[in-house]
Amino acid sequence: MDSDEGYNYEFDDEEEECSEDSNEEDPDDDTLEVELVDPVVAGGERDECGETGGSGLGPGQDEEDYRFEVLTAEQILQHMVECIREVNEVIQNPATITRILLSHFNWDKEKLMERYFDGNLDKLFSECHVINPSKKSRTRLMNTRSSAQDMPCQICYLNYPNSYFTGLECGHKFCMQCWGDYLTTKIIEEGMGQTISCPAHSCDILVDDNTVMRLITESKVKLKYQHLITNSFVEYM
Ligand SMILES: [Zn+2]
Ligand SMILES: [Zn+2]
Repeated sequence: MDSDEGYNYEFDDEEEECSEDSNEEDPDDDTLEVELVDPVVAGGERDECGETGGSGLGPGQDEEDYRFEVLTAEQILQHMVECIREVNEVIQNPATITRILLSHFNWDKEKLMERYFDGNLDKLFSECHVINPSKKSRTRLMNTRSSAQDMPCQICYLNYPNSYFTGLECGHKFCMQCWGDYLTTKIIEEGMGQTISCPAHSCDILVDDNTVMRLITESKVKLKYQHLITNSFVEYM
């Protein structure tokens, strides 16, 4: 397992090769590129007028009374990545999986560690709706046993070569087009972030951040997803 795997939100417009496993583990790619957006006020309302510090105070209030810290989206993401990194120093999972585990425990690191070392990892991972990464290689081996023939996608029923199919560790594979459409609908129309699951019927395995970043090409959708994830993190900061 590669504990150095980065937690990458990518916001470039370059076309990414989406062939299977091509960019899942790249220890050198530890960059963190984030577009700066409106500041978000931790623990408070979104600052509509864009003012920071004490300028929005009412009469009779001192600057010291202003208890909200204004953070940019980038700073929030840094806090989040730092939180994931701290946990990963101990439990060493892919960062994208640790994010899901932490989300499940409302970003309570201690609670996660406690459960993690409690021993019943299968129960923990199934509760968090992820596949235990230590069992990953077996699943992957099973799924890469490919056929040369085109096969039908179970969503759109169109035939595509095996290389055009992708999926989560649960093993359910769908064509890239359907994945992109599915994720875009969830993110843009339904405003879902950390609760998007595999499109397969009755599969509850959650989509991880790297998969979203890999399968979504539109930066607008990526940015919305990032907001949804960081906003849920802010709630528990
Ligand atoms: Zn399809
Ligand atoms: Zn599935």
